[in-house]
Amino acid sequence: MSDVDLFEAETAVLTRATQVVASGADEPEQYRQALEELVKSYGRLMRESRRLIARSDRTERELNQLNSKLQQLTDELDYKARHDNLTGALNRGAIFERAHHFLKTTSLSLVVLDIDFFKRINDEFGHPTGDAVIRELVNRLRHTLNGEGEVGRVGGEEFTILLPGVSLDAAVVIAEEIRLAIVQEAFPCLPSRPVTSSFGISWSDVGADFEDAYARADAALYKAKHGGRNRVERDA
Ligand code: GH3
Ligand code: MG
Ligand code: MG
Repeated sequence: MSDVDLFEAETAVLTRATQVVASGADEPEQYRQALEELVKSYGRLMRESRRLIARSDRTERELNQLNSKLQQLTDELDYKARHDNLTGALNRGAIFERAHHFLKTTSLSLVVLDIDFFKRINDEFGHPTGDAVIRELVNRLRHTLNGEGEVGRVGGEEFTILLPGVSLDAAVVIAEEIRLAIVQEAFPCLPSRPVTSSFGISWSDVGADFEDAYARADAALYKAKHGGRNRVERDA
């Protein structure tokens, strides 16, 4: 706190006026002078108060604007921390977190999807075409799922689909639909050959261990790859 008295001048005027009143002076001139000083002082105080109120209103508006900007940046950061920037799908950390969350309250079908011979696509058509294939695949995934479940990109060309409350049989049907949506129509970014993908699915009851659920789905994916790819396999 500063030692400067903001009201030094006003205090002096007030002290003089108080003394005049207390002295019971007969001289009207002394009262007139004291009153004149008080009027000036009061006017200055009012002008200063108005200026300060206007400044504080302006500062409050600026603070509100900064606060909403900060909130917007926090939301953007939060979004970026949870999403894959190539596809907009949840990233590995976020989808695994969602799986843990689901398993606390519901059963879960977990689908892992891996694009077949993706390295060849990169090698023959270039990395940008590979990226376009990944994006188009996620579009088809989303379109087929039509709002059901959640999609995460867990690796370069590996994805996890969470289907909470969905039975293993129903998940197999959904995965088969996705497989067909990917293979049946050529990708615009790769018209010369079909893109295929392999799927492994596990089902877990509520309270089950996520690592185990993922390992079982991954083992099923391994079976699909070794069974010839472009197929859906379920956990035995
Ligand atoms: P498989 O059928 O056994 O899955 O064979 P694959 O060739 O798909 O499998 P592999 O794991 O050998 O290849 C994955 C490739 O994905 C290797 C890597 O260069 C590529 N990759 C990883 N991330 C990206 C990415 O973000 N963009 C592109 N274009 N390629 C990526
Ligand atoms: Mg692959
Ligand atoms: Mg892979």
